[in-house]
Order: sequence, then structure tokens, then C-alpha cells
Amino acid sequence: MQIADVQDEIDHELISKAGIASKIREVAAQASEDYRGKNPLLIAVLKGAVNTIAAFSQALSIPVQLDFMSLSSYGSGTESSGTVTIRQDLSTDVRGRHILIVEDIIDSGRTLAWLVDELKRRGAASVEIFALLEKPARREVDVDVKYHGYEIPDEFVVGFGLDYDERFRNLDSIAVLKPEVYQGDNQA
Ligand code: 5GP
Ligand code: MG
Ligand code: MG
Repeated sequence: MQIADVQDEIDHELISKAGIASKIREVAAQASEDYRGKNPLLIAVLKGAVNTIAAFSQALSIPVQLDFMSLSSYGSGTESSGTVTIRQDLSTDVRGRHILIVEDIIDSGRTLAWLVDELKRRGAASVEIFALLEKPARREVDVDVKYHGYEIPDEFVVGFGLDYDERFRNLDSIAVLKPEVYQGDNQA
């Protein structure tokens, strides 16, 4: 789906499809070098990071394994609840594994800080992070990101996996919604 298909609800495009692809290629080239011979396990948190892990893993020049986890941090609104619970766990034993978490976006950083701690607690050999998007202005918890994508302003974005109320995940670029789309929705 493209912005033109939902133009009534989109304020503006933030990152184009080509921009996303070129950034992912750039990061994947570096990560391929860093992880060569290490058989890394890429982990994405569902559902938002699905597009990112798909594109990123295909852009790598080394073999990797993939796994997924479903966590609750956001409801249908635009604010983090701050509480993390596991809805669906990994199917891989992470003990001794080199893990690269592939994230769509870091906002407060709470979800990710929790996940890094959890994977280390389970005995991972190393845990690093690739975040396609980061909102520095919103960061509350310190997390060490190894591979950076784009820094974005403090605006709620959708597309390339990111949703508003389960919509817009299949948009092929990253965009800012018109405020009226979520105004009056105070769910946290
Ligand atoms: P954090 O724990 O860092 O505050 O929130 C992380 C999660 O919140 C992200 O993985 C994503 O699912 C959601 N999130 C944070 N900011 C945005 C945003 O601007 N748009 C969308 N669609 N989701 C966001
Ligand atoms: Mg995420
Ligand atoms: Mg969401």
C-alpha cells in the first residue's frame, strides 16, 4: 500500500520506501561483517518489526536464524504503558547465542531495555540492537543501540510494519498521520 491509497489520513511522508531500503542495505553490510562466522540469531518483536527483520535479513550476506516474540507495551493508543508482558515467547534456546534484536522503533526504550535484560538472563553470549527508527526526544531508559537507522522527531509514525490501531502496517513507506486520525483516543 502506498501513501496515495490512504492520503486522506496521512499528513506527510517521513521516510520513503527507497530511503528505508538504502538505510537497511547500509546497516546490513556492516552487520554482515561483524557477525560473519557467528551464526547470529535475529529476534524481532511482533508485529511492528516484521517488515524490518524481513528486509534486513535479506540484505545480509551471511546466514542467520530468525525468531519472534510478542510483547505487550502499547495498546491501541499512542503511549507506552511501561509494563511489559510476554504474549508469545521465542521458540529458540538463546543460551550461548549471539543475538541481534531487530527493532522497528525505539520510543521510551522501556520495551527494549526489558528484552535485553531478559535475553542476558537466559544466557545469551551477546545481545546487540538494530533500530530502524529512534525518537531521541522520548528516550526514558538508556539502551545501547549498535546499529542506527533514522532519528525521527517526536511524532507518531505509521507504515513499514508500524500501526495505528492495527492499521497502516502494510504501507510501504513511513509517514506521520493527520492528528485527527487519533485525536480523542486517550488509550495508553
Ligand atoms: P517503547 O517501549 O520504546 O516506548 O515503545 C516501543 C514500541 O512502541 C515500538 O516497538 C512500537 O511498537 C511502539 N511505538 C513507539 N513509537 C511509535 C510510533 O511513533 N508509531 C507506532 N506505530 N508505534 C510506536
Ligand atoms: Mg517494536
Ligand atoms: Mg503498535
